[in-house]
Amino acid sequence: MQVVLATWNAHKVREIREILADAPFTVVCLADLPPIPESPETGHTFAENALQKARFVAERIDGVVVADDSGLEVDALGGAPGVHSKRFTPEATHAANNHHLLERMDGKSERTARFRCCIAVVFGAEARTAQGSCEGTILTAPRGEGGFGYDPLFAPIELGGRSMAEASAAEKNAISHRGRAFRALPRLLSELGLLSG
Ligand code: IMP
Repeated sequence: MQVVLATWNAHKVREIREILADAPFTVVCLADLPPIPESPETGHTFAENALQKARFVAERIDGVVVADDSGLEVDALGGAPGVHSKRFTPEATHAANNHHLLERMDGKSERTARFRCCIAVVFGAEARTAQGSCEGTILTAPRGEGGFGYDPLFAPIELGGRSMAEASAAEKNAISHRGRAFRALPRLLSELGLLSG
């Protein structure tokens, strides 16, 4: 069986393929298929956005589609950037977003935060969702070269002070919001009758 991953984000595709390396299905992404326009993303929650992206692609291709929506929730910022993580700044680059986050966190002692990810699987009229999260704190300066997005500014509890960008790909996938959400994918496919066991 084949599952279509509804994303253009090459970093996400690489991580998800590694997370699902042992799964009993293959993962293709939008870059492997004839062109499809980019989905709108107008939801107010990660789940609404993931369902919107998966449904948008499922209306245009045959087969099983899975989409994820993810982001960073910072407690001292009332949960921002949240669903706006990708466009926290008008530039919408990782560098500008991280710079802005550091400015907004300047002088704040409460630094707890979490990454969240929601995945949505759509097959015809059927849909299922699952979530994953990763708790940690916001650093005062970027550290590390790995990962993407806010990884250099986020120190997950499990890494004992190292940033997510200082973790290997395997270490990140073991504890990340995305790893936790996507490891539920075989169960969701079973619930839809697409995978036995
Ligand atoms: P999405 O593509 O709408 O899910 O937006 C996700 C945004 O959240 C990305 O552009 C990043 O800024 C941030 N983000 C999501 N997952 C991660 C991650 O694993 N590490 C760092 N930043 C992330």
